[in-house]
Amino acid sequence: MVLAVHGGAGGALRRENTNPELAKVVRKGLADALRAGQKVLEKGGTSVAATEAAVRSLEDNEMFNAGKGAVFNEDAGHELDASIMRGSDQAAGAVAGVRNVRNPISAARLVMEKTKHVMLAGEGADDFAARSGLPTVTQDYYWTEARWQELLAAKGHGPASAKKQLTQGTVGAVAVDHEHNVAAATSTGGLVNKMVGRVSDSSSIGAGTYAKNGTVAASATGHGETFIRGAATSTISNLIEFGGKDLASAAYDVLVKRLPKLGGDGGVIALNAQGVFDAPHSSAGLLNGYLTADGKIVTRIFYDETPPNQ
Ligand code: ASP
Repeated sequence: MVLAVHGGAGGALRRENTNPELAKVVRKGLADALRAGQKVLEKGGTSVAATEAAVRSLEDNEMFNAGKGAVFNEDAGHELDASIMRGSDQAAGAVAGVRNVRNPISAARLVMEKTKHVMLAGEGADDFAARSGLPTVTQDYYWTEARWQELLAAKGHGPASAKKQLTQGTVGAVAVDHEHNVAAATSTGGLVNKMVGRVSDSSSIGAGTYAKNGTVAASATGHGETFIRGAATSTISNLIEFGGKDLASAAYDVLVKRLPKLGGDGGVIALNAQGVFDAPHSSAGLLNGYLTADGKIVTRIFYDETPPNQ
């Protein structure tokens, strides 16, 4: 594999009761993201640029909980988190709680490339993104009816109408480029009805995102608090580097054995510089897809395509 994406962990999509239209748009969303990253890699672009392009495509797609289509916080507003990491030198960038950047992942990349810091939060992050020339939006840009209904349901108002929509939706990408450098990127609107100011694992290097050439590029999704406490993605890397494990067993160990014991389910996409890929998850579902070196795109959205690991 050379590139993989995820569209979040959560409830499983079952063939028998999933609206075919919904299945189609989800699959297309993942495939479009893979194509966006593929374009970059085919032109000789870096894994950082490929993961950014893939995540931007998912942020722009209102089906997913990142960028447009992000969930609402308890104040009926949106605060978005994103992070990106480069495997060649472990450079990293992140933004937390941004409210006006159209593509938080691009802001995270600029933090990595243009500042001496790793993470910017809140107003300072939004200002930095705007000053750097990234497109800004007003909060209503992120709005979707489905997420609004989800907030009402979470607050106990109105019908629990979450049926037609996805319970998952955080997005991420991992890639390896022609120079054999890996990168990982993650973006989210967080958890529905979250407290104002709450920061997720998706913007935390070592929790939601990690990349190191000799070990792994990993992007996680799931119950963020647990993924932060369990240092999810950096632990996968450490188990490979210091524990002698291979990629699949290290990722399995963290996602299926360790994190559920801390009280949180989820999944991860993990790829190394040799193109070894795995996507273990303890949650019922993990929307994901990958691109092979010869250009084949595979998306996995249904329970039978991506059953949870035991
Ligand atoms: N990890 C994200 C968060 O806690 C949510 C998710 O991946 O679904 O905000």
